Amino acid sequence: MTIRRFLSLVLAGSLLGILIPAHAVPVSSLPTSSMVPGGVAVIATGTNAVSGKYRDNRVMLAEYEGEQYAIIGIPLSARPGSHQLTLTAPGGATETLSFTVTDKQYVEQRLTITNDRQVNPNNEDMVRINRETAEMNTAFASWDESLEPVMQMLVPTEGPRSSSFGLRRFFNDQPRAPHSGMDIAAPEGTPIYAPAPGIIKATGDYFFNGNTIIIDHGHGLITLYCHMNTIDVEVGARVEAGEQIGKVGQTGRVTGPHLHWSINLNNVRVDPALFIAEFTAGE
Ligand SMILES: [Zn+2]
Repeated sequence: MTIRRFLSLVLAGSLLGILIPAHAVPVSSLPTSSMVPGGVAVIATGTNAVSGKYRDNRVMLAEYEGEQYAIIGIPLSARPGSHQLTLTAPGGATETLSFTVTDKQYVEQRLTITNDRQVNPNNEDMVRINRETAEMNTAFASWDESLEPVMQMLVPTEGPRSSSFGLRRFFNDQPRAPHSGMDIAAPEGTPIYAPAPGIIKATGDYFFNGNTIIIDHGHGLITLYCHMNTIDVEVGARVEAGEQIGKVGQTGRVTGPHLHWSINLNNVRVDPALFIAEFTAGE
């Protein structure tokens, strides 16, 4: 290829970049599709949509091996049955794709917390909890197009992984929100690594979650790390897969040292097992 031909290709490419909106982010892997409450629907769109929406949230459109896929987080509260994805074509026309969510029964888990204030917070605690919830919700709603999400993730720490995602929880016999992540048991001080590249979106010492990190991986894929002993990164830092971000601890509402790891997709908490290659869902 001559220099001139190369330059004209580069020029054509950059012009196309300006004229045609980015349809989908190129990805090298897809998560496991599991169309259940708390799962992820991986759907070939069969088209070249510019954006997709599910339940009023923007969803990730990914280009994998030359085909476009919608990667949709399904909330734990979703009802089994027909669900709709709305796609917008480059010209602005919309199209609806349906997919079926099947039922999944999550079992009950009963935990005893010795510090009753962590189960029944006082008024002062509630002010703090509401502020922290708002802070985390803002981070979960982030949509960063500058990052290319990696959906085949490393396990963030060494230790037995429980399949505790989705458990219907009772603390001291009182019903609370279902468990929205994966717990990995490990001794205090065990290193925690970023499972995929991203940007540190938020850090904090939260009432329930203890020392916490939120990583933005782009296009609505955001991960959460809780109960840490130390936080080894700062907000705004770029991290690579395998880079240490902190250490396992037992800060916040816990019954022992472990890492609580959550994955958010289109602002919905989904099962992290679907993003780990060697982890079989339902184990
Ligand atoms: Zn947990």
